[in-house]
Amino acid sequence: MKLNQTLTSEQVKKTVAAVKKARPVYVDILDFYGRIFDAQHESRDRTRIQPVQISEEMLAIKAREKFPLIEIKEFAFDETEADRLFVRICQLARGANPQMAATAETLLKTVNTKLKSKALFRALLDGNEALFENIADEFQIDKQVLGFITYNSLRPSLTLAAGQLSLYLKKDAPWQKGYCPICGSAPILSIFATAGSRSLICSFCWHEWPTQRVFCPFCENRDGKTLQYFFNDEEKELRVDVCEKCKKYIKTIDTRKTERMIYPPLEQIASLHLDYKAAEMGYASGVRLLLQI
Ligand SMILES: [Zn+2]
Ligand SMILES: [Zn+2]
Repeated sequence: MKLNQTLTSEQVKKTVAAVKKARPVYVDILDFYGRIFDAQHESRDRTRIQPVQISEEMLAIKAREKFPLIEIKEFAFDETEADRLFVRICQLARGANPQMAATAETLLKTVNTKLKSKALFRALLDGNEALFENIADEFQIDKQVLGFITYNSLRPSLTLAAGQLSLYLKKDAPWQKGYCPICGSAPILSIFATAGSRSLICSFCWHEWPTQRVFCPFCENRDGKTLQYFFNDEEKELRVDVCEKCKKYIKTIDTRKTERMIYPPLEQIASLHLDYKAAEMGYASGVRLLLQI
């Protein structure tokens, strides 16, 4: 089993290097993301949050109704640490593409004076897109970049919280839904680790949960005749699973077909060509990619 979301910083660096070698077209983008992963790793070591408490009674109701453990707005986050990471990612983004650099430059000048990072974190968790729109208008910055930096600053808190919450999940009662059992978000990746097994990775909190092999997480289609996949011979560890019923797709990593370790946020970025390919073929992503690209 090579999949491990808690890889050390060194292991992530090695994995980034391996992917760059295999897919040179991603060298520049992975230089940037590699630094963000590093900053997130460092930040995660310092991140402290209070575990969310869920009563036995509430747990029973959620399990019966197939509700996720929490709503996104209930995620706890470490304000100080997320703010520090926000500034760090803005600094890194100054060296990225011009659109990102311009927004990062403005954010660095305004954060914690005219603009409070905490308000952005809160708005992101509350799904308050209007606030992002207003800020983007007011400061003449790119809304998508603002969302990307805000989300990535929160990510150490989110993954830490997901790890804490996962202790509430019953191991003997498989979650047969296509949304995350922790936060209810759609999956961003699917993973094959051993023969016959498959798991899904949450697009928001990055929790991994086991799922059926023949299953569309977006419409719960289980009919093998309308579930297909395509892949490219040069990258055998990657494939795109498509559903003819809802016309959505999910990218799959077959960890048995590669020697490198698997760091899902990296795999997501280093397979963007497949998102374009799937779109070209008329399939839609089951997740909003706004926050992550
Ligand atoms: Zn989740
Ligand atoms: Zn479907």
